[in-house]
Parts: sequence; C-alpha cells; structure tokens
Amino acid sequence: MLALAFMFSVSAAHAVWHSDEQAIMGTRVSVTLWHDDPAVAQRLAAQVMTEMRRIDNTYSPYKDSSDLSLMNREAPERSAANPLTISPEMTRLLDKALYYGRLTDGAFDITFASLARYYDYRAGTQPSDSQREQLLPAIDYRHVKLDKAAHTVYYTQPQVYVDLGGIAKGYAVDRAIALLHEAGVQHASVSAGGDSRVLGDRHGRPWVVGIKQPRGAEGVAIKVPLNDSAISTSGDYERFFIGAEGERIHHIINPRTGKSTDELASVSIIGPDGFDTDALSTSVFVLGAAKGLALIDKLPAFDAILITRAGKVAYSRGLAPPE
Ligand code: AMP
Ligand code: MG
Repeated sequence: MLALAFMFSVSAAHAVWHSDEQAIMGTRVSVTLWHDDPAVAQRLAAQVMTEMRRIDNTYSPYKDSSDLSLMNREAPERSAANPLTISPEMTRLLDKALYYGRLTDGAFDITFASLARYYDYRAGTQPSDSQREQLLPAIDYRHVKLDKAAHTVYYTQPQVYVDLGGIAKGYAVDRAIALLHEAGVQHASVSAGGDSRVLGDRHGRPWVVGIKQPRGAEGVAIKVPLNDSAISTSGDYERFFIGAEGERIHHIINPRTGKSTDELASVSIIGPDGFDTDALSTSVFVLGAAKGLALIDKLPAFDAILITRAGKVAYSRGLAPPE
C-alpha cells in the first residue's frame, strides 16, 4: 500500500497539466491535457494545433486553396454524368451535414451561404433585396448531390454555395480528442470557440465548461460539469452587427428567410461527440425553443440548455429536475 502510494506520488510529481491556446479557424483554440512526460504533453498539444490548422486550411471558405473553395467553384459546373471527386473526409462532413438537413427539415442547411455569403458582419452590411430574391431559391441542401460510396458531389443549381461553419469546429474537436486518446492520454479538454470536448475527467473531478452570458459583460451564465462528452454553444453574440432599426443581425441564418433568427440568444447541446453537438446547436438555434427542444427530447444521447433573448433558461427533458 505504502509502496504504491509512493510510486504514485513520484509519477504524479512529474505529470503536469499542459495547456496551449492559439488563434485558429477565426476563433480561440485551446487544449489542456494531463501527461506523465511534459515533453510528450507539449508535443501532443502541438499535434492538436497542427490538426486544427489542417482542418481550417481544408474547409475554410475564406481560403481560395481550401478543398471547400475548390468544391464551391467546381461542383456547380458538374453533373450526374461528370461529378467532382472529393476526399473521404469531405464526404463524411457533407454526409453528416446533409443528414442534419433531413433531420431538421432544412433548419440546418449548409447551402445557407448561397445567400448569406453576402453578409459582412465586420463591415455591417447585408445582401440587397434583389440578391435575396435571386439567391433564396439556391438555399436548399437537396441541391447538393453526394455519392457517399463514390466520393463524388455536384450541385444541381449554379448559385449554390456551401459553408461548413456550423459543423466543422465540432468535427475538429473530435479529431483532436481522437488524436490524444490514441496517444494514450486519459484526461484532456479541447475547445474551438463554442465547441468543446473533454476526455475522461479532471482527476477525480469533472471538467467544468461555462456557457457564456449572452449579453452584457463577459461572464459565465451556467456552469456545466462534464466527463467524456462534447458541448457546443451557438450564440447570437458571436458574429453580429446592429441594423438600421436597432435589430441584431447575426451569423445564424434561417434558411427559409435568409435572415438571422430572433428568438434565442444561446443554445448549448451536450452529447457524446462534437460533430453532432455542433450541428445540433446550430439546428436548435434556427428551430427555436419549442421545436428545438422537441427535437432534442427525441434524441436520447443529447441534451440542451437554451437561453432566450428575454433571458429565460430552458432545459431539455434529460436535464429538467424530477417532477
Ligand atoms: P455555430 O456557432 O456552430 O452555431 O455555427 C454558426 C455558423 O454556422 C455560422 O457562422 C455559419 O457559418 C453557419 N450557419 C449559419 N446558419 C446556418 C444554418 N441554418 N445551417 C447550417 N449552418 C449555418
Ligand atoms: Mg454549431
């Protein structure tokens, strides 16, 4: 017993929490992990950042050389007879995104950007009425024809433009956690903006992820203790500007109207992996409280915490106190 305790304290004396934070994917990417060997910990954290950069370089709509930009240039020109070949990873991303398009009856729709690409949140500008009229019909995920087995795609409409911003960060945190898990790490936390995933616990205590206060000063509205889970938060405070009538114009778009939604201020989804929690947080944001909670209550692996614009908090059934 004594010997064991001694051994533990020796190894624990070398093991440390190692953290790194960098600006990638237009947000803060951070990693915290526990490892016996500080040099290995540092190397693994660097590998996480390299993987995050790779994902950004591959799926950013802002980089002309990304696979996404290439797809958006080529796929509208292609057809069933001559589809564009894409990578197995792009196939997985599109397949998951189209699945959420079907599940939410188009509330989650990666073609939202056919019109929404003409919002500039920094400059505070939005698409004109004629752009809206012309491009709204191009928003429909069913325009994206994916052949999963063949790894090919084409768009059925020339003006379709895909953006994976609602799902890529969740995928990225999953990739990071997988990389750490395969390297033998048992305790880690990775986040990319509003998408976080934790591996194991924080040495006998749960990880605690904060849901931001949607308005006012920086602050945490709700603390969520988590082990071995993912949490994604979508918020109307992340990218927005205030329009001429004082309205908040933000980055989560209702595909039916091409405009940002105005019921919820923040949606957090908790579940086993970030790929799904990310898509679901954006989906529930668009669906609104009633339809969004009804969807989450049908999915046993997921829970939701909503904050309305009026500041009211609502929980999915799995988090509600017993009646
Ligand atoms: P998140 O913070 O994960 O909710 O992602 C928000 C991002 O999702 C936005 O910045 C857009 O890139 C993208 N997005 C906005 N509206 C939609 C939508 N209706 N369906 C899918 N993606 C969307
Ligand atoms: Mg999301």
